[in-house]
Amino acid sequence: MDDNKKLAEFLFPHIDKTPDYYEKLFPQRNLKEGAKVCRFSPSPTGFLHFGNLFTCFVSYSMAKSSGGVFYVRVEDTDQKRSVEGAIEVMLKGLSVYGIVPDEGVIGDREETGVYGPYYQSDRKDIYQSFAKALVEQGLAYPCFMTAEELDEIRASQENESIKGVWGKYARSRDLSYEEICQRIENGEAWTLRLKSPGTLEGKCYFDDMIKGKIEMPENVQDIVILKSDGIPTYHFAHVIDDHLMRTTHVVRGDEWISSAPIHLQLFKLLGFKAPKYVHVAPIMKEENGGKRKLSKRKDPEAAVTYYIEQGYPSESVNEYMMTLANSNFEDWRRVNKDEPLSKFPFNVKKISVSGALFDIAKLSDVSKNVVSKMNAKTVFDLSYEWAKEYNKELAALYEKDIDRATAILNIDRENKKPRKDIAKWSDIYDYISYMFDETFEPDYELSGNADSALALDVLKKYKDVVNLDDDKDAWFSRIKDLCSEVGCTPNVKEFKANPDAFRGHVGDVSTIIRVALTGRVNTPDLFAITALLGRETVKNRIELAIKHYEEEE
Ligand code: GLU
Repeated sequence: MDDNKKLAEFLFPHIDKTPDYYEKLFPQRNLKEGAKVCRFSPSPTGFLHFGNLFTCFVSYSMAKSSGGVFYVRVEDTDQKRSVEGAIEVMLKGLSVYGIVPDEGVIGDREETGVYGPYYQSDRKDIYQSFAKALVEQGLAYPCFMTAEELDEIRASQENESIKGVWGKYARSRDLSYEEICQRIENGEAWTLRLKSPGTLEGKCYFDDMIKGKIEMPENVQDIVILKSDGIPTYHFAHVIDDHLMRTTHVVRGDEWISSAPIHLQLFKLLGFKAPKYVHVAPIMKEENGGKRKLSKRKDPEAAVTYYIEQGYPSESVNEYMMTLANSNFEDWRRVNKDEPLSKFPFNVKKISVSGALFDIAKLSDVSKNVVSKMNAKTVFDLSYEWAKEYNKELAALYEKDIDRATAILNIDRENKKPRKDIAKWSDIYDYISYMFDETFEPDYELSGNADSALALDVLKKYKDVVNLDDDKDAWFSRIKDLCSEVGCTPNVKEFKANPDAFRGHVGDVSTIIRVALTGRVNTPDLFAITALLGRETVKNRIELAIKHYEEEE
C-alpha cells in the first residue's frame, strides 16, 4: 500500500464507503431535456432576509419554469450559527410566497426525496468518504497548524497579494506518513486541507448566467475541507452536495463569486461536472444619492417578516420581486393584466448584474394594483386572517358584521376602474374607520368653495331630503336639486364660466355632505357609503355637523 492509501486508512478508519458507492446511490435524475434542478440552502439562522427570499425566488422560478426540481438543503455545519426552530420559521416565510420545495427539508427534521439526507449535519460520512478518496490520491492532507500559527502567517503576509495557506506557508503539506501518525497519536488537532494544484499563473474561467464570462486567477490556497471536528467547510459541502443532489444550477448570493475558483477546482479534482452558476447581486437601496445594500440592521423591510406583519399580500410581494428580477415584466403585465405570474417568461439573464434597487413606494404601487383586482370577499378573507394575528382592532370591527364589512370593502371594487387605495392590510383600519361609530373621527374642515355658511344651508336642507331608499340616480338628483336652492349650480362648467354668480357647484355640495358623513374630503363612492352607514347614523352625523357649523358661524 502506498503512503497516501495508508494515510487515508489511518485518518478515516471508520469510512467504508467509496465515492463510487454514493455515485450509484444518487444517480443522475431522470428529467426531461432542459429541466433545471435548483436549490435553496439556508443556514438555520432563523432570519429570512428579503435578499434571501429574492435569491430563492429566482432559484424556484428557474426550476419551476423549466419543469425541473426545486429542493431545500439545510447548511447547518456551523453549529454556532444554528438557532432552534429556525427552519420552520424560514420554510414558513417561503411558503407565504408560494415557494414550497418539491424535495429536501420540508419541516423541522422532516425531509422528503431520495437524494438526502438534506441536513448537512447528517452527511458527515458522505463528506468524509470523498475526503478519504482525495487523501488516497495525494490531493488532501492533514494540517497541524494552530490558530496562533495561522495568525502569525497572516501577519507576515502584508505584502502578499494572496493570503492564507499556500506555497511556503503550507507548513504541513509535505509531512511524512510517519510524522503525521505520530502527531495524531500524540493528540494534536488537525484539519484536512486540499493540496491545491493551482499555480500563480493559472486562470479560472466560467460563464455566470447573470454576470457573464468571468476570468479569475485560479485557486492556489490549500483551503480547509474538513474542520478539526471532521465537519466540512462550506466549500467542500457545496461541491459534494450539489454534485450528489444533481443540482444543475447553483443560484446563490454573489458574495460567493470570489470563492468560485476554489469550487471549480474542487469539482475538477473530484471528477465532477460543475453546475452552472447564477450569482445574484444583493438588493440595493438608494440613500443620499448613493446606493447601499438593503441592510438587516438599518432597514426594517430587509426582514421578510416585515411584509407579513404589515400585511402585504403575498401576491403583491411576488409581483414586486418579478419587477426587481426582470425589467421587462411590467410591460408584460400591462398587456397580460389577468395572467398568473407563472405565465411570465422569466429570464434569468435579465437579472441586474449590479443589484436590483429596492423601492418601497414601488412595492406599494404594485400592491395597490394587485389588491384593486381582488374581489371584496378575497380582500375580506385575506385581511381578516391577517387582522386576527396582527391587528385585533380591525378584526373586532369586522366581527361586528362580516357581511357589512365585506360590503364596505366592495365600495368602488369589482368594476372596470377599481380604486387603488389599499396597498397592505394595515391600511384598511384607517381606510374604513369612519364607517363605524366607535372609530369615526369628525373633522369638519372643508375644501374648494365650501365654507361653513354654505355647509349649514346645505346640511339643513339635505337632512330633510336624504332618503336611504333612493337608488344612485335618485340620490344624485336630490343633491343636484339642492344646489339651486342654496345658490349653487349642479353644472360645474356653468360655475367655471361664471364663478361670481354662484356660491359653489355640485362638487362643493357633495364635499359638504361627504365631510359631514365621513370626516374626510376624499372617500370612495359617497352614495354607497351613505347606504352602508344607515339611516340613523346619517341623520346623527348631519346633525352633529350642523351643530359644529352653527357654533363656528
Ligand atoms: N448556506 C449559504 C448561506 O446561507 C448558502 C450559499 C449557497 O446557496 O450555496 O449563505
